[in-house]
Amino acid sequence: MATELKTFTGSQFIGKPVLADIEFIPYLEKINDFAATNGLKIFVTSSARPWGVPVGGAIIHPAKMSNHLIGHAIDMNIQIGAKLYTSHELGDFNSLPSTIQAFFTAISKHPVLHWGADFGDPVHIDDRLNKNNPNTWNQKFPIIQSELTGLTQPGIRAVNSPRLLFLTTPLMEGDDVKAVQEKLIGKGFDLGITRADGLFGSATSQAVIKFQDQEDLEPIDGIVGDTTKKALGL
Ligand SMILES: [Zn+2]
Repeated sequence: MATELKTFTGSQFIGKPVLADIEFIPYLEKINDFAATNGLKIFVTSSARPWGVPVGGAIIHPAKMSNHLIGHAIDMNIQIGAKLYTSHELGDFNSLPSTIQAFFTAISKHPVLHWGADFGDPVHIDDRLNKNNPNTWNQKFPIIQSELTGLTQPGIRAVNSPRLLFLTTPLMEGDDVKAVQEKLIGKGFDLGITRADGLFGSATSQAVIKFQDQEDLEPIDGIVGDTTKKALGL
């Protein structure tokens, strides 16, 4: 089993950068293929999700084994031209354009991929790892959560191990975010705040994207990793 958090970009993917476990990337490529065949753009609204804030340094096991928590799921809207199809439209299969119907039919016929409409969640696609292999889900959970939250082992915060910084719900918070904001403010970017507050909100994310663009960094994804930190002088 390989478990590692990666960012995914595909020709048909727009919106938030997709954060996924390395073992889910081939399925994202498949989704990208199905979207390309049908001329659709996938606007990702959510992918890998941090599971709350560790209490007393320990990761508590969630009651619901969501595949978002291990980077094996996306939530998306679908865009055709200027029209965005959100959960309201996507939930009414028979009223959808034939290209979107064909896209979801391809997902449903795929041996691994699973469309969430079966359980009332038409914006959701995953690979059912939580159901098909809960042991693997359990092994991946602390690793992916560690990478998302800056913990390297369940329950142990790694002071010297930098985490990736990006826009999440709830917002990432900390001195590492503050350091990034101070650099951005120092370089004249507008974060909507006069002093760094240590919260990685949307203005900070937008400023990171502008900075990455300005510095010709690749990819321009609003995620602060080693390359962006170095360019900021951190
Ligand atoms: Zn979902």
